Amino acid sequence: MSESQRELLADDALVLHVKNWQTADKYAVCFTKEHGKLRFIAYGARYEKNIHGRLLQPFANLHIEVQQGQKIDKLRSCELLQMPKSMDMQQMAYAAVASELTAVLTEDRVPQPELYEMLGAALAALMQRNPRLVVLSYAIKLLAATGFAPQLTHCVHCGEAVTAQENAWFSPLQGGLICSSCRSTYNGDGLEPCGAETRELWQWLAQLDYEQPTPFKVRGGALMELEKILFKFIFFQTDKPLNSLNFLSQLQL
Ligand SMILES: [Zn+2]
Repeated sequence: MSESQRELLADDALVLHVKNWQTADKYAVCFTKEHGKLRFIAYGARYEKNIHGRLLQPFANLHIEVQQGQKIDKLRSCELLQMPKSMDMQQMAYAAVASELTAVLTEDRVPQPELYEMLGAALAALMQRNPRLVVLSYAIKLLAATGFAPQLTHCVHCGEAVTAQENAWFSPLQGGLICSSCRSTYNGDGLEPCGAETRELWQWLAQLDYEQPTPFKVRGGALMELEKILFKFIFFQTDKPLNSLNFLSQLQL
């Protein structure tokens, strides 16, 4: 098949990740409106005068044309839709977590336009709101949208309902709650405490409207417990440590 016969995709895209490739090129991962996650090479993008190279930056919103290649797709053209607003270090660190989560939890070329909207909304919101809460909320919504939603209402071991007040644990391996009666007999896999306040925070974040958040008192202990559970769960699901979390912890946020 000649190059001109191969598929040419045009779409709006949010840039998730960019890295240098060989001597003059860049490799990029984007999440697009109509085609889901796309990876491609932008040839010559590292040359100073190359317009693609300048536009192809993490979190940028671009209109791209990508040509399907034999081994890997390549960028034919890109135009700027919206440059990311200037972010401080903390916002950038959280934006990197949102982007990396999107990259690791989605498959190539599975269209999910609602996810494209969700990511765009989260990237915009983390510059106006508490980025830590925005990104946790996004992570929870992303897990639901990609079919990884954990079981939070029933014990995954005995199937009994876990009431709002009762104490519970979370099994990252089984992806759900373990009730207190099962906990003692459960030969578990690194169970994490998941208290009533943590589950309440989880529900609040799952439904968080960034524009009009419903009032809620976020407690530090519950926040840390939830972060620990979520990132451990995601690690179990993807089997990959997130690079962006290292960066975040180095900032000691
Ligand atoms: Zn149980």
